Amino acid sequence: MIKYLYSLLTQIHPKPVIEMSTLTYDEAKTWIDTLKKQIKQRNQKMIGSSEQFLEKAIRSISTTDNKELYQIGNELSLHYFNRPCKIPIEWDKSLKNAAGCFQFDKRNHKPIRIVQSLWQYNQFGAQHVIGTLKHELAHYHLFIQEKPFHDADMEFKQTCRKIGAPLFALAMQEGYETSCSVCGESTGLEKKEKKKLASRCCKQPLDFGEYVLILPDGSRIEVIK
Ligand SMILES: [Zn+2]
Ligand SMILES: [Zn+2]
Repeated sequence: MIKYLYSLLTQIHPKPVIEMSTLTYDEAKTWIDTLKKQIKQRNQKMIGSSEQFLEKAIRSISTTDNKELYQIGNELSLHYFNRPCKIPIEWDKSLKNAAGCFQFDKRNHKPIRIVQSLWQYNQFGAQHVIGTLKHELAHYHLFIQEKPFHDADMEFKQTCRKIGAPLFALAMQEGYETSCSVCGESTGLEKKEKKKLASRCCKQPLDFGEYVLILPDGSRIEVIK
């Protein structure tokens, strides 16, 4: 019960001062009821004010910890799904080839967390992260309602369209744009500048151009490597 009380306390700001060590059973029970009511009221208030929640106005998100990232995710969750997000949302420093990811325990059918690529935030900014969060939240909410929740599922795609989330938060290509040094035909992306590579068309060395990212929607972004 103390554990439960503690978990409720982590959701409340500012925290009331409770002398945990000397708490009687009845006192703890009263606190739990009070805190539950407070959290419920706050969540309802957030749903009520959701029209004033301007996701388009968000230009930056703190990356020193996961607090603001979670806050934004939870507001998106309340706004689009009328339910809070009950799993952590965390920055991931190593995730590069995906914008974000919804992790779950397959065997016990339990949601675990949502991770968001820190690298992609630094590259593409806050609005990209918000799009990704909406996509991952769609996975999460369909999953907990035991509905089809995979990227390829019809219901998932419909949900994404309804809330204006990108259909793909995954796969992104990156590399130097290359072309044949003789005829100039495009020869695709290469991760490294290799002198030995030869073009298929003329069997000649390649020219290396800009380092680019190709997003799932096909847009091309030059990056400085
Ligand atoms: Zn997905
Ligand atoms: Zn050629």
